[in-house]
Amino acid sequence: MDIPRIFNITESEHRIHNPFTPEKLATLGAALRLESGARVLDLGSGSGEMLCTWARDYGLIGTGIDLSQLFTEQAKRRAEELGVADRVTFIHGDAAGYVADEKVDVAACLGASWIGGGVAGTIELLARSLRPGGIILIGEPYWRQLPPTPEVARGCLAHDISDFLLLPELLASFDRLGYDVVEMVLADQDGWDRYEAAKWLTMRRWLEANPDDELAKEVRDLLTTEPVRHATYTREYLGWGVFALMSR
Ligand code: SAH
Repeated sequence: MDIPRIFNITESEHRIHNPFTPEKLATLGAALRLESGARVLDLGSGSGEMLCTWARDYGLIGTGIDLSQLFTEQAKRRAEELGVADRVTFIHGDAAGYVADEKVDVAACLGASWIGGGVAGTIELLARSLRPGGIILIGEPYWRQLPPTPEVARGCLAHDISDFLLLPELLASFDRLGYDVVEMVLADQDGWDRYEAAKWLTMRRWLEANPDDELAKEVRDLLTTEPVRHATYTREYLGWGVFALMSR
């Protein structure tokens, strides 16, 4: 049980597997005004940077679930490193359908909304773990500018223009689901570079160490094409943000 191996290769050196920088993650944590001891659930917790740094900075108690064994191991190591291993728990597993035993103050899913079958389904899933008055965090892409053609959307690794909304439309969609948007922190193009460009050096080093691996050709092709693809499409057209929601 794991994610496709290519992601474990290209993102093996990432602490944050989304276009947020450490500064943006800290800004979000501060924006939520968490009280010490607040309970946070994170579905698709990756390498655990959000829970670990917020446990250190805000004293929260957290649980993260992630399908990548590698990322989950990295999250546990990060918790040790930051001295918060007694406050955060990382579980390797499928987060689809995961509901916490004890209701949480914050239920999050950043950059993995397929876990609940899309944004609406993921909000519904997170809501099942949330105490009344708690906050849902959803991290999601949106179009900075609408792709002029479906080819441009595919250049952003979307299937179609309809995969994502413009920011005002995305905010309106939360309203239609019965939620107040109570905070948001948006990534910027520098953050996209951190997320995407960090993969390139990882790929280059991996290729040097694993020239005969069955994925070597795929990684070689990606390293050749990704910088131009990123600069042409993702960097220009795709935004990403984390939205804090409270049920009305
Ligand atoms: N929230 C993290 C990771 C985002 S990347 C961060 O922002 O850094 C998406 C993550 O979802 C990856 O870590 C991947 O391993 C995880 N994932 C994918 N499918 C999953 C599933 N069904 N259940 C749990 N985690 C999943």
